[in-house]
Amino acid sequence: MTPAAGARDHLPPAAAGGRASSAPLLGRDTEPTLFELSRPGRQAWQLRTTGVPELPLEELVPAEHRRPSPPQLAEVSERDLVAHFTRLSHRQFSVDLGSYPLGSCTMKYNPKVCDAVAALPGLADVHPGAPASCTQGWLELLVELEEALCQVTGMAAATLQPAAGAAGELTGLLLMRAWHESQGRPRSKVIIPDSAHGTNPASVTLGGYQTVTVPSDERGCVDLAALRAELDDDVAGIMLTNPNTLGLFEEEILDIAAAVHEVGGLLYYDGANLNAILGVVRPGDMGFDIVHLNLHKTFATPHGGGGPGAGPVAVAPRLAPFLPGPRPVRLDAVDVDGAGPRFGWETPEHSIGRVHSWHGNALVLARALAYVLVHGGDGLRRVAQLAVLNANWLRTRLHGTYDVPYDRPCMHECVLSAATLKRTTGVRALDVAKRLLEEGFHAPTVYFPLVVDEALMVEPTETESLQTLEALADAFERIARQAAAPGGAELAAGAPHGTPVGRVDETRAARTLVPTFDARP
Ligand SMILES: *Cc1c(COP(=O)(O)O)cnc(C)c1O
Repeated sequence: MTPAAGARDHLPPAAAGGRASSAPLLGRDTEPTLFELSRPGRQAWQLRTTGVPELPLEELVPAEHRRPSPPQLAEVSERDLVAHFTRLSHRQFSVDLGSYPLGSCTMKYNPKVCDAVAALPGLADVHPGAPASCTQGWLELLVELEEALCQVTGMAAATLQPAAGAAGELTGLLLMRAWHESQGRPRSKVIIPDSAHGTNPASVTLGGYQTVTVPSDERGCVDLAALRAELDDDVAGIMLTNPNTLGLFEEEILDIAAAVHEVGGLLYYDGANLNAILGVVRPGDMGFDIVHLNLHKTFATPHGGGGPGAGPVAVAPRLAPFLPGPRPVRLDAVDVDGAGPRFGWETPEHSIGRVHSWHGNALVLARALAYVLVHGGDGLRRVAQLAVLNANWLRTRLHGTYDVPYDRPCMHECVLSAATLKRTTGVRALDVAKRLLEEGFHAPTVYFPLVVDEALMVEPTETESLQTLEALADAFERIARQAAAPGGAELAAGAPHGTPVGRVDETRAARTLVPTFDARP
Protein backbone atom coordinates (compact mmCIF):
# COMPACT_ATOMS: atom_id res chain seq x y z
CA MET A 1 0.00 0.00 0.00
CA THR A 2 1.37 3.41 -0.91
CA PRO A 3 0.65 6.13 1.62
CA ALA A 4 -1.58 8.82 0.17
CA ALA A 5 -0.30 12.40 0.28
CA GLY A 6 -0.81 13.74 3.75
CA ALA A 7 -1.01 10.25 5.20
CA ARG A 8 2.13 10.89 7.19
CA ASP A 9 0.07 12.93 9.61
CA HIS A 10 -1.63 9.72 10.60
CA LEU A 11 1.48 7.68 11.17
CA PRO A 12 2.41 7.08 14.76
CA PRO A 13 5.43 9.13 15.83
CA ALA A 14 8.59 7.49 14.58
CA ALA A 15 10.10 5.84 17.59
CA ALA A 16 13.14 3.80 18.37
CA GLY A 17 12.24 0.30 19.46
CA GLY A 18 13.57 -1.70 22.35
CA ARG A 19 17.03 -1.66 20.79
CA ALA A 20 18.70 1.71 20.91
CA SER A 21 21.06 0.96 18.05
CA SER A 22 20.31 -0.18 14.52
CA ALA A 23 23.65 -1.97 14.21
CA PRO A 24 23.19 -5.57 13.08
CA LEU A 25 23.41 -8.11 15.81
CA LEU A 26 26.70 -9.89 15.92
CA GLY A 27 27.81 -13.07 17.59
CA ARG A 28 25.52 -14.69 20.06
CA ASP A 29 23.51 -11.60 21.12
CA THR A 30 19.90 -12.57 21.38
CA GLU A 31 17.37 -10.69 19.31
CA PRO A 32 14.53 -9.50 21.56
CA THR A 33 11.10 -10.90 20.77
CA LEU A 34 8.44 -8.58 19.38
CA PHE A 35 6.82 -8.66 22.82
CA GLU A 36 9.99 -7.30 24.39
CA LEU A 37 10.12 -4.56 21.75
CA SER A 38 6.49 -3.72 22.41
CA ARG A 39 5.51 -0.31 23.89
CA PRO A 40 1.88 0.54 24.67
CA GLY A 41 0.15 2.47 21.90
CA ARG A 42 2.84 2.02 19.30
CA GLN A 43 1.59 0.78 15.93
CA ALA A 44 2.78 0.10 12.42
CA TRP A 45 0.23 1.81 10.25
CA GLN A 46 -3.03 3.60 10.50
CA LEU A 47 -5.24 4.16 7.51
CA ARG A 48 -6.59 7.64 6.85
CA THR A 49 -10.24 8.05 7.52
CA THR A 50 -12.05 7.82 4.20
CA GLY A 51 -15.03 10.01 4.87
CA VAL A 52 -17.38 7.01 4.62
CA PRO A 53 -19.45 7.03 7.81
CA GLU A 54 -18.31 4.38 10.25
CA LEU A 55 -20.79 1.76 11.39
CA PRO A 56 -21.16 1.35 15.12
CA LEU A 57 -19.14 -1.62 16.34
CA GLU A 58 -22.35 -3.26 17.56
CA GLU A 59 -23.64 -3.42 13.98
CA LEU A 60 -20.37 -4.71 12.53
CA VAL A 61 -19.80 -7.50 15.06
CA PRO A 62 -22.59 -8.52 17.44
CA ALA A 63 -21.58 -8.54 21.10
CA GLU A 64 -21.76 -12.33 21.46
CA HIS A 65 -19.06 -12.72 18.78
CA ARG A 66 -16.68 -10.25 20.39
CA ARG A 67 -14.01 -11.17 22.93
CA PRO A 68 -14.34 -9.51 26.32
CA SER A 69 -10.85 -7.97 26.26
CA PRO A 70 -8.40 -7.12 23.47
CA PRO A 71 -5.78 -9.77 22.56
CA GLN A 72 -2.34 -9.32 24.13
CA LEU A 73 -0.46 -8.50 20.91
CA ALA A 74 2.89 -6.80 20.57
CA GLU A 75 2.69 -3.08 19.78
CA VAL A 76 5.58 -2.00 17.55
CA SER A 77 6.20 0.54 14.82
CA GLU A 78 6.61 -0.61 11.22
CA ARG A 79 10.23 0.48 11.24
CA ASP A 80 11.08 -1.65 14.29
CA LEU A 81 9.07 -4.57 12.94
CA VAL A 82 10.97 -4.62 9.64
CA ALA A 83 14.33 -4.22 11.42
CA HIS A 84 13.45 -7.11 13.74
CA PHE A 85 12.68 -9.54 10.92
CA THR A 86 15.59 -8.33 8.79
CA ARG A 87 17.98 -8.93 11.70
CA LEU A 88 16.52 -12.40 12.21
CA SER A 89 16.83 -13.17 8.50
CA HIS A 90 20.57 -12.40 8.67
CA ARG A 91 20.97 -15.11 11.29
CA GLN A 92 19.54 -17.83 9.03
CA PHE A 93 21.06 -20.22 6.57
CA SER A 94 19.00 -20.59 3.40
CA VAL A 95 19.08 -22.13 -0.07
CA ASP A 96 19.72 -18.66 -1.47
CA LEU A 97 22.82 -18.31 0.70
CA GLY A 98 24.65 -21.54 -0.04
CA SER A 99 24.70 -25.29 -0.49
CA TYR A 100 22.12 -27.16 1.60
CA PRO A 101 22.90 -30.86 1.07
CA LEU A 102 20.05 -32.20 3.21
CA GLY A 103 19.43 -35.78 2.07
CA SER A 104 15.88 -36.97 1.42
CA CYS A 105 14.46 -33.46 1.66
CA THR A 106 15.84 -31.92 -1.55
CA MET A 107 16.71 -28.38 -0.50
CA LYS A 108 17.76 -26.95 -3.82
CA TYR A 109 18.02 -23.48 -5.27
CA ASN A 110 14.72 -22.43 -6.85
CA PRO A 111 14.87 -20.23 -9.96
CA LYS A 112 13.47 -16.74 -9.32
CA VAL A 113 11.55 -16.78 -12.62
CA CYS A 114 9.05 -19.14 -10.95
CA ASP A 115 8.43 -16.62 -8.18
CA ALA A 116 8.03 -13.87 -10.78
CA VAL A 117 5.33 -15.91 -12.54
CA ALA A 118 3.50 -16.67 -9.29
CA ALA A 119 3.51 -12.95 -8.43
CA LEU A 120 1.74 -11.91 -11.65
CA PRO A 121 -1.37 -10.02 -10.53
CA GLY A 122 -3.51 -12.01 -12.98
CA LEU A 123 -2.60 -15.13 -10.99
CA ALA A 124 -1.97 -13.84 -7.50
CA ASP A 125 -5.00 -11.57 -7.15
CA VAL A 126 -7.71 -14.02 -8.27
CA HIS A 127 -10.20 -15.18 -5.66
CA PRO A 128 -10.42 -18.99 -5.60
CA GLY A 129 -14.22 -18.76 -5.51
CA ALA A 130 -14.42 -16.74 -8.76
CA PRO A 131 -16.62 -18.53 -11.32
CA ALA A 132 -14.97 -20.67 -14.01
CA SER A 133 -16.08 -18.22 -16.70
CA CYS A 134 -13.79 -15.56 -15.13
CA THR A 135 -10.83 -17.85 -14.41
CA GLN A 136 -10.20 -19.64 -17.70
CA GLY A 137 -6.48 -18.82 -17.58
CA TRP A 138 -6.05 -20.30 -14.12
CA LEU A 139 -8.02 -23.41 -15.11
CA GLU A 140 -5.88 -23.87 -18.20
CA LEU A 141 -2.75 -23.58 -16.03
CA LEU A 142 -4.04 -26.25 -13.64
CA VAL A 143 -5.07 -28.59 -16.46
CA GLU A 144 -1.68 -28.16 -18.16
CA LEU A 145 0.16 -28.84 -14.92
CA GLU A 146 -1.88 -32.00 -14.32
CA GLU A 147 -1.08 -33.17 -17.83
CA ALA A 148 2.62 -32.40 -17.41
CA LEU A 149 2.80 -34.28 -14.09
CA CYS A 150 1.00 -37.26 -15.65
CA GLN A 151 3.57 -37.24 -18.47
CA VAL A 152 6.47 -37.11 -16.03
CA THR A 153 5.07 -39.93 -13.88
CA GLY A 154 3.50 -42.09 -16.60
CA MET A 155 0.07 -41.83 -14.99
CA ALA A 156 -3.43 -41.16 -16.36
CA ALA A 157 -4.95 -38.50 -14.10
CA ALA A 158 -4.01 -36.40 -11.09
CA THR A 159 -5.30 -34.27 -8.25
CA LEU A 160 -3.52 -31.05 -7.37
CA GLN A 161 -5.32 -30.58 -4.05
CA PRO A 162 -3.01 -32.13 -1.40
CA ALA A 163 -1.08 -29.43 0.45
CA ALA A 164 2.15 -31.38 1.07
CA GLY A 165 3.84 -34.74 0.66
CA ALA A 166 2.28 -36.30 3.74
CA ALA A 167 -1.16 -35.03 2.66
CA GLY A 168 -0.54 -36.67 -0.74
CA GLU A 169 0.34 -39.93 0.99
CA LEU A 170 -2.90 -39.91 2.96
CA THR A 171 -4.84 -39.10 -0.22
CA GLY A 172 -3.12 -42.02 -1.97
CA LEU A 173 -3.99 -44.41 0.86
CA LEU A 174 -7.62 -43.25 0.86
CA LEU A 175 -7.66 -43.92 -2.91
CA MET A 176 -6.22 -47.37 -2.22
CA ARG A 177 -8.95 -47.99 0.35
CA ALA A 178 -11.72 -46.73 -1.98
CA TRP A 179 -10.43 -49.00 -4.75
CA HIS A 180 -10.39 -52.15 -2.62
CA GLU A 181 -13.84 -51.35 -1.21
CA SER A 182 -15.18 -50.90 -4.75
CA GLN A 183 -13.86 -54.37 -5.51
CA GLY A 184 -15.81 -55.72 -2.55
CA ARG A 185 -12.68 -56.92 -0.70
CA PRO A 186 -11.43 -54.46 1.91
CA ARG A 187 -7.91 -55.23 3.15
CA SER A 188 -5.97 -54.35 6.27
CA LYS A 189 -2.19 -54.24 5.65
CA VAL A 190 0.27 -52.01 3.79
CA ILE A 191 3.90 -53.07 3.31
CA ILE A 192 6.77 -50.59 3.75
CA PRO A 193 10.53 -51.21 3.52
CA ASP A 194 12.63 -50.49 6.62
CA SER A 195 14.46 -47.66 4.86
CA ALA A 196 11.24 -45.66 4.23
CA HIS A 197 10.65 -42.01 5.08
CA GLY A 198 8.94 -41.59 8.47
CA THR A 199 5.78 -40.12 6.97
CA ASN A 200 5.01 -43.43 5.19
CA PRO A 201 4.10 -45.53 8.25
CA ALA A 202 2.36 -42.50 9.81
CA SER A 203 0.16 -42.11 6.71
CA VAL A 204 -0.61 -45.84 6.70
CA THR A 205 -1.88 -45.60 10.28
CA LEU A 206 -3.88 -42.44 9.52
CA GLY A 207 -5.38 -44.21 6.48
CA GLY A 208 -6.66 -46.95 8.78
CA TYR A 209 -4.19 -49.66 7.73
CA GLN A 210 -1.56 -51.65 9.60
CA THR A 211 2.10 -51.30 8.64
CA VAL A 212 4.10 -54.40 7.79
CA THR A 213 7.85 -53.73 7.51
CA VAL A 214 10.09 -55.61 5.10
CA PRO A 215 13.88 -55.56 5.58
CA SER A 216 16.47 -54.32 3.11
CA ASP A 217 18.99 -56.83 1.78
CA GLU A 218 22.76 -56.42 1.93
CA ARG A 219 22.67 -54.29 -1.25
CA GLY A 220 20.26 -51.80 0.37
CA CYS A 221 17.26 -52.89 -1.69
CA VAL A 222 13.95 -54.55 -0.79
CA ASP A 223 14.54 -58.20 0.10
CA LEU A 224 12.28 -59.82 -2.52
CA ALA A 225 12.05 -63.17 -0.72
CA ALA A 226 11.05 -61.43 2.54
CA LEU A 227 8.48 -59.39 0.61
CA ARG A 228 6.99 -62.51 -1.03
CA ALA A 229 6.61 -64.09 2.41
CA GLU A 230 4.39 -61.19 3.54
CA LEU A 231 2.14 -61.10 0.48
CA ASP A 232 -1.41 -62.38 0.78
CA ASP A 233 -4.91 -61.21 -0.09
CA ASP A 234 -5.06 -59.00 3.00
CA VAL A 235 -2.31 -56.74 1.61
CA ALA A 236 -3.81 -53.50 0.25
CA GLY A 237 -0.52 -52.43 -1.27
CA ILE A 238 3.12 -51.47 -0.84
CA MET A 239 4.62 -47.99 -0.41
CA LEU A 240 8.01 -47.60 -2.05
CA THR A 241 10.28 -44.94 -3.33
CA ASN A 242 12.65 -45.63 -6.18
CA PRO A 243 15.44 -44.65 -5.91
CA ASN A 244 14.94 -45.69 -2.30
CA THR A 245 15.88 -43.73 0.80
CA LEU A 246 19.46 -44.98 0.57
CA GLY A 247 19.65 -43.25 -2.81
CA LEU A 248 19.78 -46.63 -4.54
CA PHE A 249 17.70 -47.82 -7.48
CA GLU A 250 15.48 -50.83 -6.73
CA GLU A 251 16.65 -52.98 -9.61
CA GLU A 252 14.03 -55.67 -9.01
CA ILE A 253 11.16 -53.22 -9.21
CA LEU A 254 9.39 -55.05 -12.06
CA ASP A 255 9.43 -58.31 -10.08
CA ILE A 256 8.22 -56.47 -6.98
CA ALA A 257 5.36 -54.91 -8.97
CA ALA A 258 4.34 -58.26 -10.47
CA ALA A 259 4.36 -59.97 -7.06
CA VAL A 260 2.22 -57.26 -5.41
CA HIS A 261 -0.23 -57.12 -8.32
CA GLU A 262 -0.55 -60.88 -8.27
CA VAL A 263 -2.20 -60.77 -4.83
CA GLY A 264 -4.41 -57.86 -5.92
CA GLY A 265 -2.38 -55.20 -4.10
CA LEU A 266 -1.56 -51.71 -5.40
CA LEU A 267 1.85 -50.03 -5.66
CA TYR A 268 2.28 -46.59 -4.13
CA TYR A 269 5.26 -44.49 -5.22
CA ASP A 270 6.58 -41.89 -2.76
CA GLY A 271 7.77 -39.37 -5.34
CA ALA A 272 8.71 -36.64 -2.88
CA ASN A 273 12.18 -36.58 -4.42
CA LEU A 274 11.79 -37.04 -8.13
CA ASN A 275 15.06 -35.31 -9.04
CA ALA A 276 16.83 -38.56 -9.79
CA ILE A 277 14.45 -39.85 -12.45
CA LEU A 278 12.82 -36.82 -14.11
CA GLY A 279 12.55 -37.51 -17.83
CA VAL A 280 14.55 -40.74 -17.51
CA VAL A 281 12.20 -43.37 -16.09
CA ARG A 282 8.56 -43.14 -14.98
CA PRO A 283 6.86 -44.73 -11.95
CA GLY A 284 3.97 -45.75 -14.24
CA ASP A 285 6.36 -47.77 -16.40
CA MET A 286 7.78 -49.47 -13.30
CA GLY A 287 4.28 -50.75 -12.45
CA PHE A 288 3.17 -48.18 -9.86
CA ASP A 289 -0.54 -47.31 -9.52
CA ILE A 290 -0.39 -44.20 -7.31
CA VAL A 291 2.33 -41.51 -7.08
CA HIS A 292 2.64 -38.39 -4.99
CA LEU A 293 5.08 -35.62 -5.87
CA ASN A 294 6.47 -32.87 -3.68
CA LEU A 295 6.36 -29.78 -5.88
CA HIS A 296 8.15 -27.99 -3.03
CA LYS A 297 11.15 -30.28 -3.40
CA THR A 298 11.53 -31.05 -7.09
CA PHE A 299 9.51 -28.32 -8.82
CA ALA A 300 10.82 -24.98 -7.64
CA THR A 301 8.97 -23.94 -4.52
CA PRO A 302 11.25 -23.01 -1.64
CA HIS A 303 10.41 -25.11 1.41
CA GLY A 304 11.24 -25.42 5.05
CA GLY A 305 9.98 -23.25 7.83
CA GLY A 306 6.47 -24.50 7.26
CA GLY A 307 5.79 -22.52 4.09
CA PRO A 308 3.15 -23.71 1.65
CA GLY A 309 3.85 -26.82 -0.38
CA ALA A 310 1.93 -29.02 -2.78
CA GLY A 311 1.76 -32.82 -2.96
CA PRO A 312 -0.23 -33.70 -6.10
CA VAL A 313 -1.23 -37.34 -6.52
CA ALA A 314 -1.25 -39.02 -9.94
CA VAL A 315 -2.91 -42.37 -10.59
CA ALA A 316 -3.33 -45.19 -13.11
CA PRO A 317 -6.56 -45.20 -15.19
CA ARG A 318 -8.51 -47.57 -12.91
CA LEU A 319 -8.09 -45.22 -9.93
CA ALA A 320 -9.04 -41.98 -11.74
CA PRO A 321 -12.80 -42.23 -10.87
CA PHE A 322 -11.89 -42.04 -7.15
CA LEU A 323 -9.76 -38.87 -7.25
CA PRO A 324 -10.66 -35.90 -5.04
CA GLY A 325 -12.84 -33.32 -6.74
CA PRO A 326 -13.70 -30.98 -8.18
CA ARG A 327 -10.92 -31.31 -10.76
CA PRO A 328 -10.08 -28.76 -13.45
CA VAL A 329 -10.99 -30.22 -16.87
CA ARG A 330 -10.95 -29.36 -20.55
CA LEU A 331 -14.53 -29.03 -21.82
CA ASP A 332 -15.18 -30.96 -25.02
CA ALA A 333 -17.87 -28.69 -26.43
CA VAL A 334 -16.48 -25.36 -27.58
CA ASP A 335 -18.82 -22.55 -28.65
CA VAL A 336 -19.20 -22.19 -32.41
CA ASP A 337 -17.36 -18.88 -32.30
CA GLY A 338 -14.81 -20.30 -29.91
CA ALA A 339 -15.51 -17.63 -27.32
CA GLY A 340 -17.16 -19.78 -24.64
CA PRO A 341 -15.35 -21.32 -21.69
CA ARG A 342 -12.97 -24.10 -22.64
CA PHE A 343 -12.22 -25.22 -19.08
CA GLY A 344 -14.44 -26.10 -16.14
CA TRP A 345 -14.69 -28.12 -12.94
CA GLU A 346 -15.78 -31.74 -12.64
CA THR A 347 -16.04 -34.14 -9.70
CA PRO A 348 -15.05 -37.75 -10.52
CA GLU A 349 -17.84 -40.34 -10.28
CA HIS A 350 -16.65 -42.15 -7.12
CA SER A 351 -14.61 -39.27 -5.68
CA ILE A 352 -13.22 -39.71 -2.16
CA GLY A 353 -14.17 -36.04 -1.65
CA ARG A 354 -12.10 -32.95 -1.01
CA VAL A 355 -8.69 -33.14 0.67
CA HIS A 356 -8.11 -29.35 0.63
CA SER A 357 -10.30 -26.28 0.59
CA TRP A 358 -10.53 -24.67 -2.84
CA HIS A 359 -8.01 -26.06 -5.33
CA GLY A 360 -4.86 -26.60 -3.30
CA ASN A 361 -1.96 -24.19 -2.79
CA ALA A 362 -2.48 -22.55 -6.17
CA LEU A 363 0.60 -20.31 -6.34
CA VAL A 364 2.84 -23.31 -5.66
CA LEU A 365 1.14 -24.97 -8.62
CA ALA A 366 1.83 -21.89 -10.78
CA ARG A 367 5.53 -22.04 -9.85
CA ALA A 368 5.65 -25.72 -10.74
CA LEU A 369 4.19 -25.20 -14.21
CA ALA A 370 6.63 -22.32 -14.79
CA TYR A 371 9.49 -24.66 -13.79
CA VAL A 372 8.30 -27.38 -16.18
CA LEU A 373 7.86 -24.93 -19.08
CA VAL A 374 11.20 -23.18 -18.49
CA HIS A 375 13.04 -26.52 -18.58
CA GLY A 376 11.08 -28.44 -21.20
CA GLY A 377 11.48 -32.23 -21.50
CA ASP A 378 15.22 -32.13 -22.22
CA GLY A 379 15.83 -29.67 -19.40
CA LEU A 380 14.05 -31.87 -16.88
CA ARG A 381 16.14 -34.86 -17.95
CA ARG A 382 19.25 -32.73 -17.49
CA VAL A 383 18.09 -31.91 -13.93
CA ALA A 384 18.04 -35.65 -13.19
CA GLN A 385 21.39 -36.29 -14.87
CA LEU A 386 23.12 -33.50 -12.95
CA ALA A 387 21.51 -34.48 -9.62
CA VAL A 388 22.82 -38.04 -10.06
CA LEU A 389 26.23 -36.90 -11.34
CA ASN A 390 26.75 -34.52 -8.41
CA ALA A 391 25.85 -37.17 -5.81
CA ASN A 392 28.17 -39.73 -7.38
CA TRP A 393 30.99 -37.21 -7.64
CA LEU A 394 30.74 -36.58 -3.90
CA ARG A 395 30.42 -40.28 -3.07
CA THR A 396 33.54 -41.10 -5.07
CA ARG A 397 35.53 -38.17 -3.70
CA LEU A 398 34.65 -38.82 -0.04
CA HIS A 399 35.03 -42.59 -0.25
CA GLY A 400 37.87 -43.48 2.12
CA THR A 401 37.51 -40.35 4.22
CA TYR A 402 34.10 -41.59 5.33
CA ASP A 403 32.56 -45.05 5.09
CA VAL A 404 30.29 -45.73 2.14
CA PRO A 405 28.08 -48.56 3.44
CA TYR A 406 26.45 -49.36 0.08
CA ASP A 407 29.33 -48.85 -2.28
CA ARG A 408 27.75 -48.76 -5.72
CA PRO A 409 26.49 -46.01 -8.03
CA CYS A 410 23.80 -44.00 -6.26
CA MET A 411 21.06 -41.80 -7.63
CA HIS A 412 20.45 -38.21 -6.42
CA GLU A 413 21.85 -38.74 -2.91
CA CYS A 414 24.55 -40.78 -1.25
CA VAL A 415 24.60 -42.19 2.25
CA LEU A 416 27.97 -41.94 4.01
CA SER A 417 28.75 -43.11 7.53
CA ALA A 418 30.95 -41.70 10.27
CA ALA A 419 31.19 -45.12 11.99
CA THR A 420 34.95 -45.53 11.44
CA LEU A 421 35.61 -41.87 12.28
CA LYS A 422 33.71 -42.34 15.54
CA ARG A 423 35.62 -45.50 16.41
CA THR A 424 39.03 -43.94 15.71
CA THR A 425 38.49 -40.36 16.96
CA GLY A 426 35.25 -40.27 18.97
CA VAL A 427 33.81 -37.73 16.53
CA ARG A 428 30.24 -38.66 15.57
CA ALA A 429 27.96 -37.92 12.60
CA LEU A 430 26.27 -35.20 14.67
CA ASP A 431 29.64 -33.50 15.31
CA VAL A 432 30.49 -33.62 11.61
CA ALA A 433 27.16 -31.96 10.87
CA LYS A 434 27.82 -29.19 13.41
CA ARG A 435 31.35 -28.65 12.07
CA LEU A 436 29.93 -28.26 8.55
CA LEU A 437 27.83 -25.32 9.79
CA GLU A 438 31.07 -23.63 10.79
CA GLU A 439 32.39 -24.29 7.30
CA GLY A 440 29.48 -22.34 5.81
CA PHE A 441 27.38 -25.27 4.61
CA HIS A 442 24.07 -26.54 5.85
CA ALA A 443 24.38 -29.92 7.54
CA PRO A 444 23.36 -33.09 5.72
CA THR A 445 20.64 -35.33 7.14
CA VAL A 446 22.09 -37.38 10.01
CA TYR A 447 21.14 -40.69 11.63
CA PHE A 448 18.74 -41.43 8.77
CA PRO A 449 18.01 -43.79 7.14
CA LEU A 450 17.87 -45.76 10.35
CA VAL A 451 19.45 -48.84 8.79
CA VAL A 452 22.86 -47.09 8.55
CA ASP A 453 25.01 -46.58 11.65
CA GLU A 454 26.20 -42.94 12.07
CA ALA A 455 24.50 -42.04 8.77
CA LEU A 456 25.33 -38.84 6.89
CA MET A 457 22.88 -38.55 4.03
CA VAL A 458 24.13 -36.09 1.45
CA GLU A 459 22.05 -34.71 -1.42
CA PRO A 460 24.03 -32.04 -3.25
CA THR A 461 21.21 -31.50 -5.86
CA GLU A 462 21.65 -30.48 -9.47
CA THR A 463 21.82 -26.78 -8.73
CA GLU A 464 25.35 -26.72 -7.26
CA SER A 465 28.41 -26.03 -9.40
CA LEU A 466 31.57 -28.14 -9.46
CA GLN A 467 33.33 -25.40 -7.47
CA THR A 468 30.72 -25.61 -4.71
CA LEU A 469 30.93 -29.41 -4.66
CA GLU A 470 34.72 -29.18 -4.36
CA ALA A 471 34.43 -26.71 -1.50
CA LEU A 472 31.90 -29.00 0.23
CA ALA A 473 34.16 -32.04 -0.22
CA ASP A 474 37.15 -30.02 1.05
CA ALA A 475 35.15 -29.14 4.15
CA PHE A 476 34.17 -32.76 4.78
CA GLU A 477 37.82 -33.81 4.43
CA ARG A 478 39.13 -31.00 6.63
CA ILE A 479 36.64 -31.99 9.34
CA ALA A 480 37.82 -35.62 9.27
CA ARG A 481 41.50 -34.54 9.32
CA GLN A 482 41.00 -32.19 12.24
CA ALA A 483 39.03 -34.84 14.12
CA ALA A 484 42.09 -37.07 14.02
CA ALA A 485 44.48 -34.27 15.11
CA PRO A 486 45.27 -33.60 18.81
CA GLY A 487 42.30 -31.84 20.45
CA GLY A 488 40.08 -32.88 17.53
CA ALA A 489 37.39 -34.49 19.66
CA GLU A 490 37.06 -31.36 21.85
CA LEU A 491 36.93 -29.09 18.79
CA ALA A 492 34.13 -31.19 17.33
CA ALA A 493 32.20 -31.49 20.58
CA GLY A 494 32.05 -27.70 20.95
CA ALA A 495 30.90 -27.05 17.39
CA PRO A 496 29.38 -24.98 15.98
CA HIS A 497 31.46 -21.98 17.08
CA GLY A 498 30.70 -18.58 15.55
CA THR A 499 27.10 -19.24 14.53
CA PRO A 500 24.26 -17.19 16.10
CA VAL A 501 23.07 -20.33 17.91
CA GLY A 502 25.50 -22.85 19.32
CA ARG A 503 24.83 -26.47 20.14
CA VAL A 504 21.37 -26.82 21.59
CA ASP A 505 20.25 -29.46 24.04
CA GLU A 506 18.10 -31.41 21.60
CA THR A 507 16.75 -33.84 24.18
CA ARG A 508 15.57 -31.03 26.40
CA ALA A 509 14.17 -29.14 23.41
CA ALA A 510 12.06 -32.17 22.51
CA ARG A 511 11.02 -33.11 26.04
CA THR A 512 10.43 -29.64 27.49
CA LEU A 513 8.96 -27.88 24.52
CA VAL A 514 7.88 -24.32 25.36
CA PRO A 515 6.23 -22.88 22.27
CA THR A 516 4.97 -19.68 23.90
CA PHE A 517 6.72 -16.59 25.23
CA ASP A 518 5.74 -14.95 28.47
CA ALA A 519 6.74 -11.28 28.38
CA ARG A 520 5.98 -10.64 32.03
CA PRO A 521 9.09 -9.94 34.07
C1 LIG B 1 9.75 -34.85 2.40
C2 LIG B 1 9.29 -36.22 2.19
C3 LIG B 1 7.97 -36.60 2.50
C4 LIG B 1 6.98 -35.69 3.20
O1 LIG B 1 6.69 -34.51 2.51
P1 LIG B 1 6.09 -33.24 3.29
O2 LIG B 1 5.76 -32.26 2.22
O3 LIG B 1 7.13 -32.79 4.23
O4 LIG B 1 4.84 -33.69 4.01
C5 LIG B 1 7.60 -37.89 2.21
N1 LIG B 1 8.47 -38.78 1.67
C6 LIG B 1 9.75 -38.46 1.38
C7 LIG B 1 10.66 -39.48 0.76
C8 LIG B 1 10.21 -37.17 1.62
O5 LIG B 1 11.47 -36.84 1.35
